[in-house]
Amino acid sequence: MIPVTKTYLPPFEDYVQQLKRAWERGWITNNGILVTELEAKLKEYLGVEHLLFCSNGTVVLQMALRVLNITKEVITTPFSYVATSNAILWEQCEPVFVDIDKNDFCIDPTKIEAAITENTQAILATHVYGSPCNIDAIHKIATRHNLKVIYDGAHCFGTLYNNKQLLSYGDISTCSFHATKLFHTVEGGCIITNDAAIAEQLYLARSFGHIGDNYFSIGINGKNSEFHAAMGLANFPRLPAIMQSRKKICELYDQLLAPLDLQYQKALPGTQYNYAYYPVLFKDETTLLQVIAALKAGGVEPRRYFYPSLNKLPFIKKHIPCNVSEEISGRVLCLPLYDSLSPEEVQMICKIIVTALV
Ligand SMILES: *Cc1c(COP(=O)(O)O)cnc(C)c1O
Repeated sequence: MIPVTKTYLPPFEDYVQQLKRAWERGWITNNGILVTELEAKLKEYLGVEHLLFCSNGTVVLQMALRVLNITKEVITTPFSYVATSNAILWEQCEPVFVDIDKNDFCIDPTKIEAAITENTQAILATHVYGSPCNIDAIHKIATRHNLKVIYDGAHCFGTLYNNKQLLSYGDISTCSFHATKLFHTVEGGCIITNDAAIAEQLYLARSFGHIGDNYFSIGINGKNSEFHAAMGLANFPRLPAIMQSRKKICELYDQLLAPLDLQYQKALPGTQYNYAYYPVLFKDETTLLQVIAALKAGGVEPRRYFYPSLNKLPFIKKHIPCNVSEEISGRVLCLPLYDSLSPEEVQMICKIIVTALV
C-alpha cells in the first residue's frame, strides 16, 4: 500500500545519540537542554526573535488567541484542517468564515472587509498546503481595522515569501511538528512572534502561568519533552535533503500529469515552496471519486484534504456559504508525497490516474 504520507524517520542511532544527552542528565522535560537547543536552531533558521517549542500545533493556536485577548469574532478560512476552527471554538470565540481565493486557496482578502463587524478582533488564516496567504493585503486590512493577525503555518515550515521565512509574518505564527508534517518531532509544534511582550505572555501561558513561586497569569501545559526535541534535532539537519527529494517527486508528478489538464494551486509571486503537499483538482467530484476508487484498487491511499469545507461542519451553528471553498474541497485530492516515494511508484500512481480519466 502507498499511503498519502509516510513519517520521515532519521537513522535510529541519530535519535538515540540525541536522547542520550538528556538521559545522562536525568532531565527529560521542562525546557531541558534539547528543547532549548532545538528552539535556538529553529529561531536561527526562521530568522525570528521569539519561538517556543510546544506540545502540538493546536494548543499553540489556542495560546495565540488567549494571549492576544481574543474573545469575540475571528475572521478565518473554511479551507483548512479542522484544528484551525476548533481552536477558535474551543476558546469560545466565534469563527466568521470568509471564502478563499480560487487560485491560491487561501483566505480571499477582497472579501474580508465585508465580514468585519464591531466584534471582530482578529484574522486567523492558514497558509494552505504551505503556500502563502496574501500577506500584504491582510496586513493592510488588519492595520486599518486594528485587528490582530494569526497565521496557522502548520504546513509552511521552510517556505520562503519575499526571501523571508513565511513563518516570520503576522503578530503570531504557529506551526505543527506532527509526524505527518514536513518537519516533525513525533508530536509537537511551535509558536512564533517578533514582539517581546507577547513572547513573555506566551512563555507564561505555556507553563501554567508561573515561574517558580511567582504566579502571573492563567496558563496551561503546552510544554514539550526532551524525547520530542531529540527527534527534532535528529531530523533538522536532514531537512534540505528531504525538501530536495520531495521537489523532485513533485516535478515528476508535474511532468507525468501534464497531459491531463488538471488544475493546481497557484502560489503568489515571491514564493519559494517547501513541497509539503501535492494537491490536484479534478474536473468535478464525480471524477474525483472515480480517481480515488481506481487508486484504492491499485493500493494507493490518497487523501481528500481538505474536505469538508469547515463552514459545513455539523457543529457550526451559523451557516455562512463559502462557494469557492465548498467547490474546491469537493474536487481536491492530495497525492502521495514523502521522502522515500520512488519514481517507479510515482509512475504507477500517475498511470492509474491517467487510465481512470480516459
Ligand atoms: C496539522 C494541522 C494542525 C494541527 O497540528 P497538530 O500538531 O496535529 O495539533 C493545525 N492546522 C493545520 C492547518 C494543520 O494541518
